[in-house]
Amino acid sequence: MSRIVRVGNVFIGQGYPVSIQSMTNTKTVDVDATVRQIRELAAAGCEIVRVAVADFESARAIRKIKEVLDLNVPIVADVHYDHRLAIEAIKNGADKVRINPGNIGQDWKVKELVEVAREYSVPIRVGANSGSLRKDFEQKYDRITALAESALYEVRLLEKFGFYDIVVSVKSTDVLETIKANEYVASKVDYPLHIGLTEAGVGETAIIKSAIAIGHLLLKGIGNTIRVSIAGDPIKEVIVARKILASIGLRKFGQVIACPTCARCEIDVEQIARSIEPIVEKTDLTVAVMGCVVNGIGEGRHADVGVAGTKNGAVIFKSGTIVKTVPREKIVEELIKLIEHTRSVPQ
Ligand code: SF4
Repeated sequence: MSRIVRVGNVFIGQGYPVSIQSMTNTKTVDVDATVRQIRELAAAGCEIVRVAVADFESARAIRKIKEVLDLNVPIVADVHYDHRLAIEAIKNGADKVRINPGNIGQDWKVKELVEVAREYSVPIRVGANSGSLRKDFEQKYDRITALAESALYEVRLLEKFGFYDIVVSVKSTDVLETIKANEYVASKVDYPLHIGLTEAGVGETAIIKSAIAIGHLLLKGIGNTIRVSIAGDPIKEVIVARKILASIGLRKFGQVIACPTCARCEIDVEQIARSIEPIVEKTDLTVAVMGCVVNGIGEGRHADVGVAGTKNGAVIFKSGTIVKTVPREKIVEELIKLIEHTRSVPQ
């Protein structure tokens, strides 16, 4: 069981859906560019957006961003070291702040931040990354314990001032370290956990590492909000995050399943799957693209809608029952029609 933390209109914690986060890579002071990217992220399915706050101008830009943004997506201010920036961000509408009190310095500064966060009902995310462990903990503990204890140290600095509106994260670039450190933290505190890897890499490497670590933890009931870390366009992070959650059945997002193809294949499975994927992802349907009818209909019967190749084209089926036979050149068109019809008719 974890506590529940409210971030704007999104609740994180026990009983609430695992939420998807990402971070803008625009200059936060460039309000137009940042708003544009937040809109794109939200359209892709991002539910909480973090922006970097490197100076007072960036902190104040949060207010402008929220004024221009015609969406209710919570904004998290990412702050390092300077508690005054975190306070300024909160006063300018940040829905959550990410800052480590251990980096702030003196106690009075942490107290000042905590008082403002409490006044505005803004939670604080604290944690540790494998690249920023406390030196004394590195000497005292093994790497995993040092990572987890570094995060817990930050938690205690907030608790010291009676602040408990906390989200915790422990991230490593290493899959096993991330898993073990999160398990450790989950066994010690009941705050919601923000899970993901840090600096996971590019493309497939980042996707595979993230899917293993995040998937493993979520299947064990650990983790309440996720960020997939992929170098480059943050939209990819959101797409992958949705796929991870849908794959393990924690959220119902539209997904395309497709057979790997073999010598029996009668249609271009990959091309059809790629053509319909952007449409399917906007629904909550599972759509199967199968190369042949020999195994295709049976294996795809759990999908809401499916297609299986035949000598002359394909059969289109719904929950395992054939509803139409179509020629090769009409497969994608007819499949989309059935997807659109199925999504518009309550099941
Ligand atoms: Fe092969 Fe048909 Fe199975 Fe696809 S569905 S892998 S084409 S047998």
